[in-house]
Amino acid sequence: MRLSELQTGDKAFIVKVNGSGAFRKRILEMGFVRGQEVRSILNAPLKDPIKYGIMEYEVSLRRSEAVLIEISKLKEDVVYAVDNDKTDGPENEVEETDFRDPPLSDESDLKKENNNVIRVALVGNPNAGKTSIFNLASGAHEHVGNYSGVTVDSKEGTLRHNGYKFILTDLPGTYSLSAYSPEELYVRSYIFEEKPDVIVNVVSASALERNLYLTTELIELEKPMVVALNMYDELEKSGRLFKHQTLSEMLNVPIVPTVGKKGFGIPELLENVISIYESGNNSHNVKVPYGRVLEKSIGFMCRDLLSNGFSTLGMPKRYVGIKLLEGDKEVENAIREHDKGKELLARRNKEREYIERLLKEDPESAFTNARYGFIAGALKETLSEKTKFEDKTTVLDAVLTNKYLGLPLFFVFLWIMFEATFRLGAYPMEWIEWIVAQAGNLIRVNMTEGPLKDLLVDGVIGGVGGVIVFLPNIVILYAFIAFMEDSGYMARAAFIMDKLMHNIGLHGKSFIPLIMGFGCNVPAVMSTRTIESRSSRMITMLIVPFMSCSARLPVYILFVSAFFPRNGSFVMLGLYSVGVLVAILTAILLRKRFFTKEDTPFVMELPPYRMPTFKSVVIHMWERAKQYLLKMGGPILVASIIIWFLGYFPQDVQREAQFDRQLAQLDSLVLPQTEKEIRVIEIEHAKNTEHQVNSYIGKIGHFMEPLMRPLGFDWKISVSLLSGMAAKEIVISTMGVLYTGDSEDQQSLQTRLLQEKHPDGTPVFSPLVVIGFLLFILIYFPCIATIVAIKEESHSWRWALFSVVYSTGLAWFIAFLVYQTGRFFI
Ligand code: GDP
Ligand code: MG
Repeated sequence: MRLSELQTGDKAFIVKVNGSGAFRKRILEMGFVRGQEVRSILNAPLKDPIKYGIMEYEVSLRRSEAVLIEISKLKEDVVYAVDNDKTDGPENEVEETDFRDPPLSDESDLKKENNNVIRVALVGNPNAGKTSIFNLASGAHEHVGNYSGVTVDSKEGTLRHNGYKFILTDLPGTYSLSAYSPEELYVRSYIFEEKPDVIVNVVSASALERNLYLTTELIELEKPMVVALNMYDELEKSGRLFKHQTLSEMLNVPIVPTVGKKGFGIPELLENVISIYESGNNSHNVKVPYGRVLEKSIGFMCRDLLSNGFSTLGMPKRYVGIKLLEGDKEVENAIREHDKGKELLARRNKEREYIERLLKEDPESAFTNARYGFIAGALKETLSEKTKFEDKTTVLDAVLTNKYLGLPLFFVFLWIMFEATFRLGAYPMEWIEWIVAQAGNLIRVNMTEGPLKDLLVDGVIGGVGGVIVFLPNIVILYAFIAFMEDSGYMARAAFIMDKLMHNIGLHGKSFIPLIMGFGCNVPAVMSTRTIESRSSRMITMLIVPFMSCSARLPVYILFVSAFFPRNGSFVMLGLYSVGVLVAILTAILLRKRFFTKEDTPFVMELPPYRMPTFKSVVIHMWERAKQYLLKMGGPILVASIIIWFLGYFPQDVQREAQFDRQLAQLDSLVLPQTEKEIRVIEIEHAKNTEHQVNSYIGKIGHFMEPLMRPLGFDWKISVSLLSGMAAKEIVISTMGVLYTGDSEDQQSLQTRLLQEKHPDGTPVFSPLVVIGFLLFILIYFPCIATIVAIKEESHSWRWALFSVVYSTGLAWFIAFLVYQTGRFFI
């Protein structure tokens, strides 16, 4: 029987996991090992994926993945060959030798040098509470999220305790140390390359069995380690008894109960870190017992490693032996480079065959089974059964992921989020605009004329204003996102949306960056890191720019209220929808053309619902606001100064003087006052226009004009679009400069745009041009900061460049289609 056939509410036992690669490995590590009980809890509203309960936590799997897991309703069917020790041994025995490496001497020297400084790495499953502990301990402002994989970068913070200085590093959450996901690789290489003095393994007490899997792997690294038994409050509330002291003795690792949210247990944790550091205990004398068959193979691998003098990348030999037998690609590649590497790998292959033959399962499952077997044994002695009760997660999920209510509730939530972001955000936005205007006036009044004054007023203040005006939107949006992440609802959103996203070849997790994209594309692109599969991650980050970000909104508002005052909301909705449509088509295209391989396994933990603390939401908001100001602020400010420069220079003194002379002449003429004023305005206008046409920006605009002509765009539109490359809101300020209108800045930009005429008297902004222009704004790449983010996340300029060329090309093509076909009909 297959897991996908299990009826909702039914239970069964795992027999075997089929499939291959990352999916299989991940599934095994997450506890889908032989003999484990699994429950089918509920289907997502769109019938797929399905939520399963295993090892006291919840995980969602796609139907297509559940098919790969064999189950049986009868426990007897699955308990064969569990006890490795009963299997008969091979012919050639290997004697028990101590393959442990001697402690490295340089390490202890190092320790003496930087006395009293302890570098601590926080390692643990996603949602174990690493970031919470990190924040509380170091007082650092760090993002906390109740959503698998939110922490993808390592963050450092420092604190002092009992005369020691601690340098804490918050590492990304991992389920194991295998080399499949970027997080796992990152954590492993961090441990071996950065060599933290002490590892603090943060373990969630509410999913102990699965969390301890990583602990067994960490023990094998033979590094000084302390376990933080986090979520201890949840354990106590569940009414279970856990003799953690006993487990601590069994593992020979200190275990300290903590409550990451409240700070309980953190001083004790630090004191344990100090004493482990001082004693240099590497938890040497505990080995995870793998049973006779596996131990024998491990023994052979260690012997060969030792006799051939392999340097083992600073890893313990036993660990390298195990990883080789498990088929770890990274360790394998490192070994292959050695002269005797081929021989060793040949030997390894023989051992793998031997394991497979004897245990009737592949080595990967054999090792995972053995580790889980060890954990189950240890917990049997130390952890009492759960006293049954309906917890709030079950109740909440029955509503929030309900067949009928799940999707509507999700969309209601999204709607509230957007109303708040844009409607509520409009008020502080006005205040900020007012303050910026006042600052500009202050300088205008008090400074003497000259380029410096113009730079300050128009370049700098204008630029800064353009940056900070969106801060309220960002802050509100991220308050919601922080709440969703911290509460655990974000994972449900991915669960609910997976079926839809799957249709365009993506993962439910892609939905979150895409929603964020409506706020600001930069953090959205950065948040794609939560997606494990590279192909899904790449596709997601390349389509995020089509999610119309809030910086594009002011441009829409300006034009829609000027040209479509009656159908405003309809046009706006249309724009957002076109963006989504372009994103969908692009995703399908990219999947077909460039990222054909691998479908992301949808193995996602659904963490229990937890009430977010006010502090963590505020910290999250603050982080994002800072990130926005730092990452976006810089480029926007620089770009607006460059644009100002391009528009201000070159200054033609002679030409200016000529206009001034005309004005002076006018003064001496005897004319009626009104006539005189009109003349003055005409001359001023001619002066401005002459200046613009001859400025650098004018030249670029004119150069581009032939290219934009087929879209019905004049050179000023072209220049505005060009300056919008820096940030979309600059489009407006550029238009403000270029469309000077007839009088001295008395009219609003809207009126000036409405009145703008071609030399032949026809309006520049016909409805077709406006629609084409808005579509162009929507589709061509949002801003330099986003492109930089894509470059950083994809680690390739090629894809960043692709994004620029593709989106701009597409924007041109669509605006072209609209203008040309529209002209045909109108
Ligand atoms: P990380 O993924 O390991 O960094 O975990 P986080 O620090 O982001 O925490 C995940 C969630 O668990 C957040 O909603 C925290 O507020 C919550 N949390 C952290 N520690 C505890 C704890 O000790 N008890 C309870 N009840 N919740 C906690
Ligand atoms: Mg974290």
